[in-house]
Amino acid sequence: MHGFTKQIFLASRDCLRQGWYLQHGESTEPTSDADEFRMEQGQLIGEQARLLCPGGVLVDQRRPSDAARLTARLLADPEVPAIFEAAFQGDGCTTRADMLVRGNGGWTVKEVKSALVTSEPPVELVDDVSYTVMVARKAGLPVARSSLFLISRDYRLGMPPQNLFVEIDVTEAVEARLPEFAAKLEQIQAILSQPEPPPASLIPACRSCEFFATECLGHNLEHPITEIPRLHRNRLAALAEQGIFEILSVPDAFPLSDAQRIAVASIQTGREYVGPSLSGDLTNVDFPAAYLDFETVATAIPLYPGVAPYEQVTTQFSVHICDQPGHVVAHHEFLADPSRDCRRELAENLLAILGNHGSVIVYHAAFERGQLARLAELFPDLAPGLNVVIARLVDLEVVIRRGYYAPAFRGSFSIKRVLPVLVQNLSYKGLPIGDGDTAVAKFARMSLGQYDSDQAAEIRSQLLRYCRLDTLAMVELHGKLLEIAAAQP
Ligand code: SF4
Repeated sequence: MHGFTKQIFLASRDCLRQGWYLQHGESTEPTSDADEFRMEQGQLIGEQARLLCPGGVLVDQRRPSDAARLTARLLADPEVPAIFEAAFQGDGCTTRADMLVRGNGGWTVKEVKSALVTSEPPVELVDDVSYTVMVARKAGLPVARSSLFLISRDYRLGMPPQNLFVEIDVTEAVEARLPEFAAKLEQIQAILSQPEPPPASLIPACRSCEFFATECLGHNLEHPITEIPRLHRNRLAALAEQGIFEILSVPDAFPLSDAQRIAVASIQTGREYVGPSLSGDLTNVDFPAAYLDFETVATAIPLYPGVAPYEQVTTQFSVHICDQPGHVVAHHEFLADPSRDCRRELAENLLAILGNHGSVIVYHAAFERGQLARLAELFPDLAPGLNVVIARLVDLEVVIRRGYYAPAFRGSFSIKRVLPVLVQNLSYKGLPIGDGDTAVAKFARMSLGQYDSDQAAEIRSQLLRYCRLDTLAMVELHGKLLEIAAAQP
């Protein structure tokens, strides 16, 4: 069994059972390359924040007891103005404070987060600081104030570190939260010390819980009710209150939207749904048509001058041109030089390829529309052409949402879920880069010079393969859905 950490405490507030699994070492979630990259970004942000507290000392011991001992020594030394990663243990809880700054009336706890600043600090971040303050006080630290360091939207590459952060005083919000935390802590500790997990109750968090299918409510259920698309939390709770966890048991009279009813009926009958809109939507395409997909990169500390933190920079596209459904006549692709911002080149290349006629088919158009609009904003002379491309977009995801459902979609219309159901000869499985988050991480690592030339060449080829599959998948999906529509009486 692990010590009682911030992650366990905060997870337990939503679901005691999840907290129990985490504390008893049942977590099995693997760490992906994209997760590792995010963690590295967080560490980089932490290092930048420390530059703002000269003279501060880092507690770099990994073992909590060693780190807590060194923290105690530093706290007792009046010459130390600030401590980084200070460790505390109290009442069976452990925590690390990103930055502690000594003051006349006590210490200020400063938590550094990789999140962009917002008008109101997000509740989950205030909770995060509150836990740190609670444990630090249990360990005897006089905490006078608390604050959040969040990423400034105005930072640009090359600015000094103080421009990277906005410090928000959250002392009042934290003090208001602490009585509730103290009461909750007792309850959580009592339940988590039991040898068996507490009972489960279905909540929206179950949808993304790593234990849902393996240990908890979704175990052995072929189609749990969490697969009903966009089901409101109140409806989810209403079904759970009636003891209904499996879609097969959802009554006909239960209130659902049309799309939800279609998904439920498809699973209950075991048959695909083909709607009246499918044929018309699929043929409402002007050929030659271009199937387009973009990839982007976005990092906390921008990679290029003039780019804001977390701004999505378009880095790559793939275009398959078809003169009729399923018949590819050309393929084009673009992948940026990661050492510089290539958006102008990308936009010019794209416009030359797409010309002025024909539908531009995408999957989940909000993303491509957003990238095209941003390019138009950046390059006003290209805006007329880019706006014409926006007007030509056809969203294949919307066509499927309106007109087709198969039980194996399991409530998701993402291309990664839909493709293997309809087109078995194409797959993302086994690709070294097989999802958008990994593509972002790999491109960013190239840009940061983390690969040698051979590795970078290999990554470039993997990125091209991944993006190419996205557009080829749309070509094949379009053809397959036309076959399905044509087979209807
Ligand atoms: S699946 Fe739901 S009830 Fe079970 S541990 Fe996760 S959040 Fe809690």
